[in-house]
Amino acid sequence: MKSFVLLYSGGADSTVAFHMLTQEGHTVYPLYIDYGQKALRNEIKAAKFFIEKFKSPPLKIIKTDVYKNIINPVLNCNEAANLNSMRNDSETVSKNFLYFRNLMFATIASIYSKEVRCKDIVFGFIKKNTFVFFPDTSPEFIDKMNNLMKVIDPSSSVELMAPCISMEKKNVVGYGIRNDIPMENTYSCYEIECCYKCESCIEVRNAYEQLQLENLSTGVGW
Ligand SMILES: [Zn+2]
Repeated sequence: MKSFVLLYSGGADSTVAFHMLTQEGHTVYPLYIDYGQKALRNEIKAAKFFIEKFKSPPLKIIKTDVYKNIINPVLNCNEAANLNSMRNDSETVSKNFLYFRNLMFATIASIYSKEVRCKDIVFGFIKKNTFVFFPDTSPEFIDKMNNLMKVIDPSSSVELMAPCISMEKKNVVGYGIRNDIPMENTYSCYEIECCYKCESCIEVRNAYEQLQLENLSTGVGW
């Protein structure tokens, strides 16, 4: 059995990755990065719920004001992301894309991995097939970061992985339902309270609708 650091937000994707690892008997060290996101309170609540359910070591929370301090101390992180995307000509990149976020996450998780003496770091990235795109959740990001890790730390190189990268959102939700994971306790919205209309909420709703079209009973109130 192995140990993993999991970048954990309490959302559907990282909760499914969490379940997969614990089912295989691995030890998961859940790590939450507080970078000023609006959804922080509900994300941490969801994360703690599943940490207790999956009986893993406690949630490690790292707080950083880097976005707040550099971009605009008045804006919260989500508003800063919107400002960023306004500077971005690409219409294919999500309005919630925050530059270098997952690069920073990988760095913080790498430092934490030394503390808990494991070298495998898990992201809950999934396959995107919608208009929403985050360049730093791609297989290419994982590959290039792993090459970089070999340069930085050749003797015990940290390895990044994304076990759900081939799953679409409907596969994630379907996995949760099949495995009796209370998906209603995950929190995937960008807002303080679940809005049912942000990119993430729409993606989850579409997943439930697709599953229902395929005659799978979801049993969850979406
Ligand atoms: Zn939402």
